[in-house]
Amino acid sequence: MKIPAFHSQWRGLALEDAWHDNDECFIVKSIPRAHRIPGKETVTRKHCRYCVLLNEPATSKPLPRLLSAESDY
Ligand SMILES: [Zn+2]
Repeated sequence: MKIPAFHSQWRGLALEDAWHDNDECFIVKSIPRAHRIPGKETVTRKHCRYCVLLNEPATSKPLPRLLSAESDY
């Protein structure tokens, strides 16, 4: 589920600093609520790639592309 953007000084499982906005993100789940700060803090901080994937609508999943690739064999 999409949540308001937040960042944290405590990265949790993330390899680099990122801001998050989806509570299904496994990195979000690794960051205690007490360590979450509302907002993105800086423009250089990246949007978490897992949150980006989770925010995509189901229709943009790559299944159609995989099916068309198979037809090339
Ligand atoms: Zn995330």
